[in-house]
Amino acid sequence: MRRKLLLGNWKMNKTSAEAKEFALASRDLVNLAHQNNIDIGVAPTYLSLATVKENADPKMIVAAQNVHFMDHGAYTGEISVPMLQEFGIDWVLIGHSERRAYDNETNQKCHDKMAVLLANNMVPVYCVGETLAQFEAGQTKEVVSSQIREGLADFTPEQVKRLVVAYEPVWSIGTGKNASTEIAQDVCGYIRSILRELFGEVAEEIRILYGGSVKPENIKAYLSCPDIDGGLVGGASLKIDSYSGLLTNIL
Ligand code: PEP
Repeated sequence: MRRKLLLGNWKMNKTSAEAKEFALASRDLVNLAHQNNIDIGVAPTYLSLATVKENADPKMIVAAQNVHFMDHGAYTGEISVPMLQEFGIDWVLIGHSERRAYDNETNQKCHDKMAVLLANNMVPVYCVGETLAQFEAGQTKEVVSSQIREGLADFTPEQVKRLVVAYEPVWSIGTGKNASTEIAQDVCGYIRSILRELFGEVAEEIRILYGGSVKPENIKAYLSCPDIDGGLVGGASLKIDSYSGLLTNIL
């Protein structure tokens, strides 16, 4: 039985002071989530990772939004796995569509980053999804298939047990245009079938999230789908009331 997972992606939002306020306000929520067998977390900016870790309930998952695949070196503007580990951060978003679009994050780069994370017993949240043009051209499954196959190439079933996959159609991120639950389930089911082909029965343990304009009002419908185990939520995770609504609507 896969535990439900609710993860907020704060993107480039919140100062450390704002992140601290949210972290303190989220303490009861995190306990409520755990009493109901739900994992809950947020992905703050690098500068707020330690603040959230220190001020939220220890059960709160605190994820970085990116990491470099090298441990150290001449990579201006980057941070590494040992730097995250120093603060007890062991979850990382990989291949978010905004990074794929603005930072040339290829499937190969995602693969290299996930290889380092998995070797360090950390949890990658691997984001996949098609653009609007690809959706309209009927290429969704082709795109998602290459993202999964190239991103996860050569990993073992034992390694990918820890992996989380997030299906986020790019055309629905921050646009208010949701993928219907039928589309979301169809693609998430397809992703699980590829994971099954690549890794066997471990595929049943891998959590697959849907992301794209998820809100308190629609989250329950997504989580009622057999292959959707949770949500990766941007805008609606920024305010504590709405974050709380996301959780209480899936209890
Ligand atoms: C995201 O950033 O991963 C996301 C899904 O954003 P939003 O919920 O705002 O569409």
